[in-house]
Amino acid sequence: MHWQTRLIHSNAKAPSGFRSLATPVARGSTVIFDSVAQATDDWHQSERGYTYGLFGSPTVLELGARIAELEGAHHSFIVPGGQAAISIVYLALCRAGSHVLLPANAYGPSHDLATGTLRAFGVTVETYDPLIGGDIERLIRPETTLIWTESPGSITMEIQDVPAIAAVGRSHGIPVALDNTYAGGVLFDAFRHGVDISIQALTKYIGGHSDVLLGSVSVASRELYERVGTAWSQLGMGVSPDEASLALRGLQTLGIRLERLERTALAVAQWLADQPEVDKVLHPALTEAPGHDLWKRDFTGSASVFSIIFRHEISPDQVACFVDALRLFKIGYSWGGVTALALTYPGLGRPDAESGDRLVRLNVGLEEPGDLIADLDQALGSAMRQPTTGR
Ligand SMILES: *Cc1c(COP(=O)(O)O)cnc(C)c1O
Repeated sequence: MHWQTRLIHSNAKAPSGFRSLATPVARGSTVIFDSVAQATDDWHQSERGYTYGLFGSPTVLELGARIAELEGAHHSFIVPGGQAAISIVYLALCRAGSHVLLPANAYGPSHDLATGTLRAFGVTVETYDPLIGGDIERLIRPETTLIWTESPGSITMEIQDVPAIAAVGRSHGIPVALDNTYAGGVLFDAFRHGVDISIQALTKYIGGHSDVLLGSVSVASRELYERVGTAWSQLGMGVSPDEASLALRGLQTLGIRLERLERTALAVAQWLADQPEVDKVLHPALTEAPGHDLWKRDFTGSASVFSIIFRHEISPDQVACFVDALRLFKIGYSWGGVTALALTYPGLGRPDAESGDRLVRLNVGLEEPGDLIADLDQALGSAMRQPTTGR
């Protein structure tokens, strides 16, 4: 054979038997078959063997199997991000004319999808009070095909009565999906509390280092495996084995990171609760937080992200000045990594019309709690020295 052909068809082989502790990064688009008769592009690779790289290489399927194991799911699909996970659930369970219930405090881009692409396709998404509990029953219509939950909710951190909502969904035969990102799939047992689908932004605690975007969709039953898998495969949401390997590495330290983040977040939140400028601390483990009793009943811990609301007398300009003055807390979206973050949400409109303008969401990292508190202290000092503009 010409060396040009030899470049493609080599007989060289590395010795076998390399027993590393790390999952190999398996790349591949084409998967080869022994015969024409065996060739298929069936997406059910976990049962029927490998067919095409889009449906996941061994690295990606190992990550899916590990997420399923942790969550106690029938199966977990790995997708390019948390938002991809959300969109797959909508597209799997809705058709033109469908009605969907979405908590008012759900992840922002889920609302954007609802009022954008989904509305254009004839799907109606109705928002509901996240603290509605079993009263959600009165919002159900004959055309309701999906109920979303998210607990705690994004930014305002309300804990939902997920078991009560799941019970209503079950009695009407409507699947209930949970955005379980906050719990990292481990601090809240979605399936034991009656949820049918649990999604996660693996970008947050599983990745854990702000360097990877991935998501998962975990399903409770064979029936949902087929419905979600059909949409997932048709939408072409494959992921890279490199990303999956970063998430597999992140999983190994999830336990110690969550433990440490919980302790630091509590120390920082409790310090903030004692500051005269702070009106409310929205952290599910603090007694004043909305849905705190449900958190105590249903969760096994709390995580790194929470919000504070400044008192009335503090102007939105001073709030912005406070965040700008922080040094260890960086300004940026997303959370769940090793770095402390802070962000304001002007015009949020939650938990009430105007206090959203005085809200700051904080995420603690693996820094020493005393240093984070000192940083917040100096930033509070800067903000208080700032002249108010009388807004
Ligand atoms: C970040 C986040 C998502 C989206 O995840 P991406 O991986 O950034 O797409 C979805 N839900 C919640 C609650 C999130 O915090």
